[in-house]
Amino acid sequence: MYELTIERQFAAAHKLENYAGPCARLHGHNYRVLVTFRGATLDESGFLMDFAALKSLCDTVLDDLDHQYLNDHAAFAGRNPTAEAIAHYLFQQIRAAAADLPAQVWAVTVYESPTSAVTYREE
Ligand SMILES: [Zn+2]
Repeated sequence: MYELTIERQFAAAHKLENYAGPCARLHGHNYRVLVTFRGATLDESGFLMDFAALKSLCDTVLDDLDHQYLNDHAAFAGRNPTAEAIAHYLFQQIRAAAADLPAQVWAVTVYESPTSAVTYREE
């Protein structure tokens, strides 16, 4: 099995409800996103997937969140736009977008800051 990881970024604002801390106030993050894909079969050139193709695929999902106020985004209706919720949402969207590819999404890690990250995966 091969694992392939790409890194992307997006910027967005949010505020967290039911949270007694500074993130309860409106603020923004430059989110760093690591997406890991897995697959067992290489093509005739020896690639699982082209990095550029996977980056492009992920960007189509991330562009929908970029420079948005996440609390008002339909993806987070009825739930806090925490890093956990963002990672889960991105996993679902990327899995759907990559359904027909030889590499399937395995994990999505969302860094809310350089030292704080959440990983979502389904095993
Ligand atoms: Zn925050």
